[in-house]
Amino acid sequence: MHKRIYDKTAVDDLVLLTDISEDGIVANLQARHAKDRIYTFIGPVLLSVNPFKEINGLYSAAMPKAYEGKYAYENAPHVFAVAEDAYRAMRRTRRDQAILVSGESGAGKTEAAKKIMEYVAAVSGDRFNRGHEHSVKERLIQSNPVLEAFGNATTVRNNNSSRFGKYMELLFDFDGVPTGGRITKYLLEKPRVVAPAAGERSFHVFYQLLAGASDEERGRLSLGGGPEGFASLSREGTVAVVKALDDGEEYLEMRSAMGDVGFDAQLQEELVSLAAAVLHISNVAGLSAKGAGSGGAALPIAAALLGVKDDALRGALTHRTIVTAGEAIRTPLSDGEAAATRDALAKALYSATFSAVVTEVNEAIKTDASHLTTGILDIYGFEIFGVNSFEQLCINYANEKLQQLFIELTVLSEQQEYAEEGIAWTPVPFFDNRVVCELIEGTKPAGVFAWLDEECVMPQGSDTTLYEKLAKNLVSHKHFAATTEKDLTKALFTITHYAGDVGYSPAGMLEKNRDTLFRDLHEMIAASAKPFVAQLLGPLPGKATQKRPVTAGFQFRQQMGELVKVLGKCEPHYIRCIKPNDHKKSGSFDADRVRHQVRYLGLLENVQVRRAGFAYRQLFTVFATRYRLLSSSCWPKGSGDARADCVAIL
Ligand code: ADP
Ligand code: MG
Repeated sequence: MHKRIYDKTAVDDLVLLTDISEDGIVANLQARHAKDRIYTFIGPVLLSVNPFKEINGLYSAAMPKAYEGKYAYENAPHVFAVAEDAYRAMRRTRRDQAILVSGESGAGKTEAAKKIMEYVAAVSGDRFNRGHEHSVKERLIQSNPVLEAFGNATTVRNNNSSRFGKYMELLFDFDGVPTGGRITKYLLEKPRVVAPAAGERSFHVFYQLLAGASDEERGRLSLGGGPEGFASLSREGTVAVVKALDDGEEYLEMRSAMGDVGFDAQLQEELVSLAAAVLHISNVAGLSAKGAGSGGAALPIAAALLGVKDDALRGALTHRTIVTAGEAIRTPLSDGEAAATRDALAKALYSATFSAVVTEVNEAIKTDASHLTTGILDIYGFEIFGVNSFEQLCINYANEKLQQLFIELTVLSEQQEYAEEGIAWTPVPFFDNRVVCELIEGTKPAGVFAWLDEECVMPQGSDTTLYEKLAKNLVSHKHFAATTEKDLTKALFTITHYAGDVGYSPAGMLEKNRDTLFRDLHEMIAASAKPFVAQLLGPLPGKATQKRPVTAGFQFRQQMGELVKVLGKCEPHYIRCIKPNDHKKSGSFDADRVRHQVRYLGLLENVQVRRAGFAYRQLFTVFATRYRLLSSSCWPKGSGDARADCVAIL
């Protein structure tokens, strides 16, 4: 294990930097990156620079022991130090803790979140199996491969990108022994189910299934060849290949993890069969309301897997029933509309399958003995793609909210403390991103989501009218811009986020925000002969509902509001993940790319506020000495007691 180092060019804690500047921070991170020291502190905040490679011994079995019961300054910076801090604070103060892991897509959030779970599992007791074959800790940890199979995908940014947000609460008894857990998930990026972007993949489970299913399973699910045989997994016959993933191997691991979590054989089969059904649905072709046998060979296969009659599936894909003045009129769809309806069904079924996975995991880890909580937030990172749509708007909005919370709980609250202590104080200026949050979530004046909701209920509302309204009403906002493009497919509106400018395409936004499934599809699924499938989309809504339907954007805003409230009640811990390059490459540190992140994360301000606070409260030399003294590397071997005394005095 490496000890803390006091090399001036690579300090463990940026508060000790001699060159307090963006360049100083970047140079320090670069020097540490070169030495495989991926973790650095700013006071209690941990920075983690993705190494894109395994670092020898960094998470060895001995490591949790080295951090257990220690204060963060006693060891080299590590994700385990943060986990220990939270775990100890939870037991000592009995306050709920939250570890907020943030960073761009591919920066290392999910890996960090898993390490936290592993740490807690390694240092805590074990006595709550409640009749399960596997311990609660095993169930919690094994939920990861299951959730990742159904909720993660390869993107251009990350081979294993989480396409859903996750807040995992670890629950404990009064002694800090894990009793169970609770997962809250946020919006799954479902367009990927039918149309992954160029060079990207759909959700892992599809490829895993095709590579790893047994012959018996293949036969039962009518899965002959590989992903190239499925319209949703290949683009013009080519499939995005990810060398780093062994899908067949992962399938077996995922199935075994399902068993460990507590999914019985039948449930596992139901879930896998739904994934197969979604694949076959995407292959349904040549749909026509007039052709009695249309839909191709894939239609009867999909129908059988769903437990519905061929004609029922075909009918629901090619017709729409509209109720006006109490009278139901069933009209045929055009071939294009039928294809869009097929895609809508695939997305809705997959999204519901993912929700079912989360519900079942929650069922397997639930507990009534939840006295203490440590939550781990691993939400999709800020991202900019070639085409950014409704999903990116939600994802980037979530990141704005978390950045805001970070500012409130660190930079703002620390400065407020100084003010309350009557310290003569020159405030550190920083970018307060509240103004961007307002631009997106505001209602008075209406922000982007409010306009989106408004257009959804306008009889003549369309993506074009939405675009016109946004451009007209928000153009004077400092963080908003819109092109004057008439062609909707080229039109963009740009939001200047805390982390950069993102151009969003309005095309398809209204539909995604409405997120309604046509009743014909819902009724067809609800009539399935398979009880698991029949209940998948929930109860059918009442026919004559006058209520304004809840939009996806509204739900997401509400969820974010609740999340921020929950987090606000916890004692926060921060892990800020940084991406050293955009090529998923080890040994490569793009200083400009890192500087950009250092800037928008407000790390310089973070360092300044902490340093200044210390400097006012105690002479800086005292503060620096304290840091040095507390570091075990400054003490000769065998001086444990003297050091402990010193720590106590300080
Ligand atoms: P995020 O969740 O932020 O999008 P991930 O946690 O999935 O990113 O990390 C992306 C990839 O980077 C991982 O699949 C892994 O290959 C690599 N990686 C991330 N963190 C580490 C780490 N601490 N050590 C080694 N490799 C890592
Ligand atoms: Mg992730």
